[in-house]
Amino acid sequence: MTNFAGLELAQPLLRAITDEGYTTPSPIQGKSIPPLLEGRDLLGVAQTGTGKTAAFALPLLHHLAQNNKKAESRRPRALILAPTRELAGQIADSLKTYGRHLHLRSGVVFGGSPIRPQIKALAHGLHILVATPGRLLDLMNQGHVRLDAVEVFILDEADRMLDMGFIRDVKKITAALPQRRQTVLFSATMPKSVQGLAHDLMNDPVRVEVAPTATTAEKVEQRVLFVPKDKKRALLSELLNNQDIERVLIFTRTKHGADRVARHLHHSGVKSDAIHGNKAQNARQRALHSFRSGRIRALVATDIAARGIDVDGVTHVINFDLPNEPESYVHRIGRTARAGADGIAISFCDHDESAYLRDIEKTIRQSVPVVEDHPYHAAEIAAMIANDTGGAGRGPGKRNKRRGQNQRQNHGQSQRRRNFRRGGRNVGKAA
Ligand code: AMP
Repeated sequence: MTNFAGLELAQPLLRAITDEGYTTPSPIQGKSIPPLLEGRDLLGVAQTGTGKTAAFALPLLHHLAQNNKKAESRRPRALILAPTRELAGQIADSLKTYGRHLHLRSGVVFGGSPIRPQIKALAHGLHILVATPGRLLDLMNQGHVRLDAVEVFILDEADRMLDMGFIRDVKKITAALPQRRQTVLFSATMPKSVQGLAHDLMNDPVRVEVAPTATTAEKVEQRVLFVPKDKKRALLSELLNNQDIERVLIFTRTKHGADRVARHLHHSGVKSDAIHGNKAQNARQRALHSFRSGRIRALVATDIAARGIDVDGVTHVINFDLPNEPESYVHRIGRTARAGADGIAISFCDHDESAYLRDIEKTIRQSVPVVEDHPYHAAEIAAMIANDTGGAGRGPGKRNKRRGQNQRQNHGQSQRRRNFRRGGRNVGKAA
């Protein structure tokens, strides 16, 4: 697929695509748009960053525009379900962007924000409703929305939806949909549970797949720094002295951890904020907005809060804590190097996280280069991993060689600190 013009999308959509500066459909778009325009059900395996939103949004808008009717009160013609508020908000934004030359109304409902305006928008009439499951069920139960006019149903990030325990809600919602409809399901991974759901919901779906996890990981320059747990914050401050790190997304395992790191950065003079599930919706949105607009340099996030966050120009992802699920690692680092841009992912690994690193390397089928040249390098973690033969592409031979080099250098702490200030700047630089 070389250009969008070959895709037979309505002119107003092609104009919006040109406005956005897109020239070529991404692989998932090239594969998904034609069958979706034919009205087929579709099962898409694609991660955030692949252009999957436009892959389902463009055919949806095309379909609604071709058969345009006045939006009916409380009876949307399309429903898009997303697991998190942020993702729902982003999908709604994308619909507005791609649909800017069309006369279709879309709206978004999610928990944690006032329900009144949502009720009002539904009563006024929406062609497309984007929703998170809990709030949608509330609105359905209170009679503010009916799903019997839905022609297209899209379930985004199905795997995360199930991980977050939404399966019963999803089942209740889909039970209220008409039998005759087009169903689209996107998921970053295809575990049995998602396959089962797809089987229940879809009719002879086309299956499209892009970017197996390894491919995403290959685009990002990755490094790991071994560091004792209690030195992670100091190491982070050191790294952020490097101004090449312009816009950085920092991941922590816990909500409290995210707050602590953001506070620490704030005290060290780095403009930052945190987003996680304990924050009020408007506080999260404010933080995201500040990050997008460049008012803050660092955004600290937990995995769930960061799901689907789409911010262009993230130069670095820092894993302050390594995730215990390799999939999360791939999702995290996929936030940088979007749309072909360069991106760097730096991971901190403490004594308790070496097993996570090993699992990650197995999943991405590559070993993450180690940077030893920093002031808090914990040689014993490196040694622990070197003695472990379980890592991918990283037999003991390779590790020992690294260790050999290190022994030859044998820097003391202060020497290392100086090196870090000079050469260590390269930690945050593209190779
Ligand atoms: P998504 O995977 O839907 O989260 O999209 C990832 C990013 O790619 C978003 O910032 C989109 O604006 C951008 N994008 C989507 N499709 C294209 C395209 N065909 N060409 C260039 N950028 C795109």
